[in-house]
Amino acid sequence: MTAREFIAAKRDGHEHTEGDLRWFVRASTAGEVDESQVSAWLMAAFLRGLNEDEIVALTMAMAESGDRLDLTGLPKPWLDKHSTGGVGDKTTIVLLPLLASCGLTMVKMSGKGLGKTGGTIDKLSAIPGLRLDLTPEEMIEQAGRIGIALAGQTPRLAPADGLFYRLRDTTATVESMPLICSSILSKKIAGGAEIVMLDVKAGSGAFMPDVPSAIALAESLVRIGNRCGLKVHAEVTDMDQPLGHLVGNALEVFEAIDVLKGWTTSGRFYDLCIQLAGGALVSTGLADDQDAGERLAREAITSGRALAKTEAWWRAQGMTVDVLDDPYLLPSAPATLMVDWHGEEGYIARFDANEVGGIVVDLGGGRQKKTDTIDLTVGLHLEVEVGMPIKPGDVLAVVHARDATSAQKAATRLARAVSVSKTPVEKGPLVIAHRS
Ligand code: URA
Repeated sequence: MTAREFIAAKRDGHEHTEGDLRWFVRASTAGEVDESQVSAWLMAAFLRGLNEDEIVALTMAMAESGDRLDLTGLPKPWLDKHSTGGVGDKTTIVLLPLLASCGLTMVKMSGKGLGKTGGTIDKLSAIPGLRLDLTPEEMIEQAGRIGIALAGQTPRLAPADGLFYRLRDTTATVESMPLICSSILSKKIAGGAEIVMLDVKAGSGAFMPDVPSAIALAESLVRIGNRCGLKVHAEVTDMDQPLGHLVGNALEVFEAIDVLKGWTTSGRFYDLCIQLAGGALVSTGLADDQDAGERLAREAITSGRALAKTEAWWRAQGMTVDVLDDPYLLPSAPATLMVDWHGEEGYIARFDANEVGGIVVDLGGGRQKKTDTIDLTVGLHLEVEVGMPIKPGDVLAVVHARDATSAQKAATRLARAVSVSKTPVEKGPLVIAHRS
């Protein structure tokens, strides 16, 4: 088989064999197939699709394209948590230490953000001194010592995904169910997890803009994951409006610390952390049902156990300034601007997550290309959410920016992200569906 024949087979709608897929993944990762050919195949797969047997074979070949973490010897259960990405989504920063403080071993590779959805690695890099380039050996050692380790993607684990994702990003082939499934699951398998909790986001600020497509993705991830030997629990959650009050890298760490310290015990972000943690504790057998799991999760925060685990984690990875003791020590932007609402009185009917994510990218807080550098300090402090009453003069948000000009631009755009209804607006559910 040549690369040309392989591409033509998918172009013409034929099914690949497991052997051919394995060959293609190996040869692409080894640089024996030209990147233009890999890109052409990605587009053929995007347009023609892959059936379930092909996705399983592709996933396993990608997982085996580099090293695989061996967690043998670490206390079970081993859980990996992954979100498909959303605006203001900092749940990983809370859930990792919270669940580790309940007895789970949490080992996770996280990605950098691209486009409107930020990445956990970018957010955590706002913590002075924190090392996010742990080697696989360091991850295992640390997880054995304190039950938790998180690092950025290393070229040693699932390198085929690194290549494919980079090419998908520049060839408009990201939004493909088979390619998303194989990308996410190959990294989870290479990371050594046995149980995976997936937060599949649905809405304007997510890959999947509507609920049916997010549910379909969740179902595929569960089925394909099971066939690859993983136990997968997927929650489909709302991403039609930003999650929480703070969007932007350092600002999101601030909001996560706020929850971990028990300062905030309500609101959409807190509720989602508790609901996802509750579900994870049920799926790993540490709680009998969702209510018991959520009780345990709340207790991990109120007892200070989750915070103590966070401190152990961040100190183990090199934190040099105690931002847990004083979150105001996180880096902050030089300019702030309060944005008032000048529209009609009514109820917030829509707060467009996609637009909010775009504003933060334009402030400098996100990247358009993988190579862009980002400003960790900029972002938005949002004061409103869907369903809230609003009248002229109320504060919509505070913009954190590099300078007054970019703050003003963000303020003008922010007003357009909000629409108001004259009649009361019902809040939709935060967790929309569960699949396992
Ligand atoms: N997250 C991933 O890791 N890969 C994708 O393809 C999409 C979201």
